[in-house]
Amino acid sequence: MRVLVVEDEPQIADFIARGLSENGYSVDTARDGEEAIQWPAVADFDVIILDVMLPLVDGLGVCSTLRERGVRTPILMLTARDAVEDRVAGLDSGADDYLVKPFAFAELLARLRALVRREPVLRGNVLQVGDLTMDTVTRQVSRAGEGLDLTTKEFALLEYMMRHPNQVLSRTVIAEHVWNYDFDNATNVIDVHVKNLRKKIDGVGGPKLIDTVRGAGYRISAREAG
Ligand code: CA
Repeated sequence: MRVLVVEDEPQIADFIARGLSENGYSVDTARDGEEAIQWPAVADFDVIILDVMLPLVDGLGVCSTLRERGVRTPILMLTARDAVEDRVAGLDSGADDYLVKPFAFAELLARLRALVRREPVLRGNVLQVGDLTMDTVTRQVSRAGEGLDLTTKEFALLEYMMRHPNQVLSRTVIAEHVWNYDFDNATNVIDVHVKNLRKKIDGVGGPKLIDTVRGAGYRISAREAG
């Protein structure tokens, strides 16, 4: 899952970015409102975390501008105080949820999960493709009841694929959602990660879930992969 963090205070921005990276999110950061408005035109984010108090354009202005431009990415707004008018203004500008600063990191993670849970494939916090399940809260992955040990990046890659089952995902799309802007697309990093992931998931017997679609990308599905 790729997240845009918009926050001008470096310490808070770094705290959020570091915490999210540790939890397998890929993170890009914007330090002012103008930068924040430009980012979604060059990258496809799964969630945007948007502080209200920002230089150049404030969070409310950023939010309403993005919505006017048709950006539908879920937006979690960070407000400095728990004032009713701030929350109302945030939601009115097009934000999906808000969080009052200071917040516990666990709550931020829970809010992000809630925002992406609106997708139909997610039943509660558990993603499922065939006999493969992923609990996005406990971060446990198992195939036919057997626990699998994945790296943070493998988990992020698998989570993205499991949220888009039966779809061919190109390397470009995978790079956009699982890596951040600094990622060098020309490398075969994605292929290596998919190979390792496949070894763990499909190496244990049972139907193959991850499929290579020649010249197009990768697909996860419950039907037998070719
Ligand atoms: Ca701020």
